[in-house]
Amino acid sequence: MNQDTICAIATANGVGALGIIRLSGVDAVKIAQRTFKGKNLEEVPSHTVHYGYIVDGNSREARGKKKEERTKIIDDRPETEDVEQFIIQNESSVTHHQTSNTQHPTPNNTEEVIDEVMVSVFLAPKTFTTEDVVEISFHGSPHIAKKILEVLVKNGARLAKAGEFTMRAFMNGRIDLAQAESIADLIASENEASRKVALNQLKGGITNEISILRNDLLNFTSLIELELDFGEEDVEFADRTAMNKLLLNLRHKLSALIESFQYGNALKNGVEVAIIGKPNAGKSTLLNALLKEERAIVSEIAGTTRDTIEEVIHLKGTAFRFVDTAGLRETTDIIEKIGVTKAKEKIASAKVLLYLYDEQDSTTAEVIAFVKEFHRDDLKIVLVHNKVDLTNDEVPNEFDSTLNLELFPDYCDELLRISARDQTGIEAVKTVLIDYVENLKDQESNVIITNQRHYDALRKSLQSVLQVEEAVSSGIHTELLAYELRNALEQLGEISGEFTNDEVLGNIFSKFCIGK
Ligand code: GDP
Repeated sequence: MNQDTICAIATANGVGALGIIRLSGVDAVKIAQRTFKGKNLEEVPSHTVHYGYIVDGNSREARGKKKEERTKIIDDRPETEDVEQFIIQNESSVTHHQTSNTQHPTPNNTEEVIDEVMVSVFLAPKTFTTEDVVEISFHGSPHIAKKILEVLVKNGARLAKAGEFTMRAFMNGRIDLAQAESIADLIASENEASRKVALNQLKGGITNEISILRNDLLNFTSLIELELDFGEEDVEFADRTAMNKLLLNLRHKLSALIESFQYGNALKNGVEVAIIGKPNAGKSTLLNALLKEERAIVSEIAGTTRDTIEEVIHLKGTAFRFVDTAGLRETTDIIEKIGVTKAKEKIASAKVLLYLYDEQDSTTAEVIAFVKEFHRDDLKIVLVHNKVDLTNDEVPNEFDSTLNLELFPDYCDELLRISARDQTGIEAVKTVLIDYVENLKDQESNVIITNQRHYDALRKSLQSVLQVEEAVSSGIHTELLAYELRNALEQLGEISGEFTNDEVLGNIFSKFCIGK
């Protein structure tokens, strides 16, 4: 059990109607009580909310207050609701309000009222951290937050490190590591898709799946161990057919989970889309057309990298990120030498490439050369023939037919005809993007992997299972099997946090925000 009581602001930085400061630890209630004027928090039932004031007093004096004095407070709401008046009364040491049957908070002249608050008390073990937790709701000023934190620290709490509350929830066995990570994902979720996958993970989706796999592996291990025990007598007890079936099943489940990562990643982080084409092909016009309905909710937001601008479009709950480096915006140099470095950079991280061309200003050879140079297995290339309003050709015309012939289906399999200016064909562009994500969905897996760490662990686990399969089929000694099986189990255990070392834990929780 952790002895420190930690405190941190749980709400966002900056001004808000309300802010919440949270305390967790063995002394959470005691420390809150030292700073609180209202009901005696040390005597209230768990999961209750109380009205009062946070005061900054001479902490020694506050600590020295006799318990009887505090328990005299029988009603926690003063007669006046005007906190300013209350503060003035206290600051000038004027006698406080008193009614015939009510005694109110009585700050003495060494105490300064910081704010009028509501305090919630949650007693162990039914709390987020499983420790005693107190939440103070105050008027959402960063200055007030700072003063309340100062006063809590003065009375024995310590400022929490990033993610320390969640870390405690994990350390105290309330949640596993995958669930802890899902809390960070929930906080970071920006749309329906990322919210849903994070929530599913928090509800134990991956945890359950992993424990099924672990059980399968353990069953298998016991079969092998049976054989090891009797190894010297040269008896082959384990039923090889049953073993092979179990292994096949394991491989199947692991592969399905691994494959779901591409989809999970698209849901969680969005899909990067690059619009590439010669200057004046209509790239900005197309982007504006796509963003048209989004403008109200999405404007340019700074990306994670400096000098990077992202325009985000949410389609069917998935974010599509049109990433542009600030410098690239001004560049118009895909003219003669197709495949300039900046276009390369843009394409490198993209999952979908919309190659825009204007027939009047391009040759089929240029388009073909470009697509052939940039295609890769994990990049979906869509040819977008823009400015079709300028011609009245039959569809597809000769230009498009040539592209079709040369590029389909090895390099790309989609050719759209649009007029970005007149906004025709824009829906088809959106459909292509939505379908891209839909096609990533693996029907085999109910659970979707969204976390790189889980993905890596699953892959290593699968690697070990493959080794075991090979060993079984080639009749290698069972001791080697046992070794690979342990590996596979440990990799799965890393996901739930059973086998994770301090460095990994530190790395995970340091990415949380303070107060979570
Ligand atoms: P970018 O350099 O690729 O970003 O091209 P812009 O989006 O700036 O467009 C270049 C020019 O082509 C502008 O004058 C646009 O109005 C025009 N344009 C873009 N799309 C179309 C279209 O579908 N039809 C016609 N006729 N003109 C277009």
